[in-house]
Formats: sequence, structure tokens, C-alpha cells
Amino acid sequence: MTEPETLTIGAFARACRLSPKALRLYDELDLLRPARVDPDTGYRYYAAEQLEQARLVAWLRRLGMPLARIRQVGAMEPPAAAQEIRAFWARVEADTAARRDLAAFLVDHLSTPPRKDTELMTSSDLLELRYAARTDIGLVRAANQDTAYAGSRVLAVADGFGPEGAPASAAAVEALKFLDAEPLTAGSVLNLLEDAVQGATQAVRDIAEANDVGTTLTAMVWTGSRLALVHIGDSRAYLLRDGELFLITHDHTLVQSMIDEGRLTPEEAATHPQRTLLRKALGSAPASPDLRLHDARSGDRYLLCSDGLTRAVPEDTVRRLLATTPDPDATTAALIEAANANGGPDNVSCVVADVVRTDGGRMPVR
Ligand code: MN
Repeated sequence: MTEPETLTIGAFARACRLSPKALRLYDELDLLRPARVDPDTGYRYYAAEQLEQARLVAWLRRLGMPLARIRQVGAMEPPAAAQEIRAFWARVEADTAARRDLAAFLVDHLSTPPRKDTELMTSSDLLELRYAARTDIGLVRAANQDTAYAGSRVLAVADGFGPEGAPASAAAVEALKFLDAEPLTAGSVLNLLEDAVQGATQAVRDIAEANDVGTTLTAMVWTGSRLALVHIGDSRAYLLRDGELFLITHDHTLVQSMIDEGRLTPEEAATHPQRTLLRKALGSAPASPDLRLHDARSGDRYLLCSDGLTRAVPEDTVRRLLATTPDPDATTAALIEAANANGGPDNVSCVVADVVRTDGGRMPVR
């Protein structure tokens, strides 16, 4: 043997406890190339130093990492490889969390028997929304590409981007408005949401097929006792309950992923040059929004807003304005004023909706 440090595929397979078949597959997939292939016989030979590499590939496959990513990790120095595995796992956990929410949504949905409105509790238990929507160009931008809308059932904020950003956000919201007119039962909410999301996606694609045109969409649909939330992009929904402010959406941005993956602190993200880059939006690329179902309580206040508010106004100021301004319309005005007082760097949109008991004596319509 001229190269005593190389092992036959059989010896190498025994040493790393993988099958020769697996090793041949790794070779074909370009995950682990043999050190040498005999030009005459085609036999594969491996270097002893490749044992560690072969085991890493096997473990990464067990982890469920996609092949292309294993290839990248395999080429990295250990510290970079460790970071990459950490990031991969954080993404898996974030995706699992989104699926967990969807599972909870479905369980919740299926566990609640649909009821007719005539069977609703007494009128004193009936809830309804008091709402207001407002959008403002801000102090810097040449055009307003945001759309805000509030109706008796539909609340929506959309933030368009690209050359046709304004019509894109308007079309996405327009596609939801039919829900305001439709008689709605809790049982049909899944169908309606699916139709609404499909309709909004198609409406945006009808505006422009270009990659760089699209919109965020954060919308809530009122079913009479619950709010179904549809969310994609970096507009946000908050719930003010008992004086506390809860962020109930997760930003689909590159920097939020980097925070989730431990690559960036929230403080670093605030000034990151790519902080507005979206990971998901309604547009040409297929992307599924997050869905959630919220049980409404009398006294709850919901805020939907575009990033023009959240990037300009600190969260505790938002909380204070929401908690101290009773009227929804006055609240949207105060929030936009606060954004513009801080430079108004972007278009600002707000929808504020209060869950209130209906006035006694009024019978449900339908
Ligand atoms: Mn914006």
C-alpha cells in the first residue's frame, strides 16, 4: 500500500459505524467525498481523519437538517458549525411553535360546538366591537403605502412595499371586506379565513407578479365571541388586557429570526441595517400566514399597527396611550401623533378595537 492512512470503504464503515451504502449515498449527495477513488476499480478509500466528519454528517441527518445545509456545516470550522446548528435548531423550534399555535387553533375550533345566534346567551352577555382606523403618510415618505380598515367584523392593517406597494396593501384589505357583509357563524370561520387569505394573496398577485411587490397583512375577524387573527409580515397586533400590553404576533423579519436564533440581541436589531427586511409577506412567493383564535373579553382592547408605529414609538408609550385614551378614534390619532412627534420616519397605521358589552335589550340581528 502506498497510502497506509487510507481505509477501504468497508473498514471505514466499520470504524464510523455507518453502512457502506450510507457512505456511497453521502458521496453521491456530495456530503462526504472519499479521499481517493481508484480510477481502475472505482473503489472508494477514506482517510482516517474523515471519521469525525462522517459521524457529524450522520448526526446532522438524524437531526433532520436538510442536505444542502449539512454540506455547508461540513465545510465549516467547529465554532461556525456550532453556531449554524444552533441557528438551525432555533428555526425548527420557531416553526414548531407556529404549528403548535395552529394545532391549538384547530383543537379550539373543533371543541366549540357551532351555535346559532338565536341560542346566544342573554343580551347582557353579548359582545361587540367599538373600533376606529387611521393611516398617515408620516413626515418623510413621499407616498402612503399603508392601508388600515375597521368594520363591524373585520380589522386590518397592511403595509405595502415595492413600486406598487400602495395598491397591493389596498387590494389585500379590500379582499377581506366581504367578511363584514357575510353572515358569520363560528363554525364557518376556517372556511372564511382560508377564502380571505387566498383572496388577499390573489389580489396582491393581480397587482404585480414582481418579486419586490407585496404587502404585510395583520387582520382580525370578529365571530361574535372570538377574534380570529391572520398575520404575515411585520405589522403587529397587541392586546391590552387589565392594563397590560401583550404582543400577540411574531414579526416575520430577518432580524427577528436572527434574534430567535441567538445571533442578534433585540438592541442590536433596532439599528440593524436590514431591520426592515421581511422573511414572509403576501406577494409572488408562496407563504402561509400565522393563524390564531382569541377568546374576547369585555374590556379587551386590540391594537393593529404597521411598523411605522412600532419603530418610532417605544412600547411603553404605546401602552400608556392605549390605557389612558378611552375613545378608539382619539387613540388612533394620539398614536399617530406620537409617531410623527418622533420624526414620522414611515407611514403609520393603527386600528384600535374595544370589546364591549352590547347595550341591553337589543336582540341579535339575523
Ligand atoms: Mn412600514
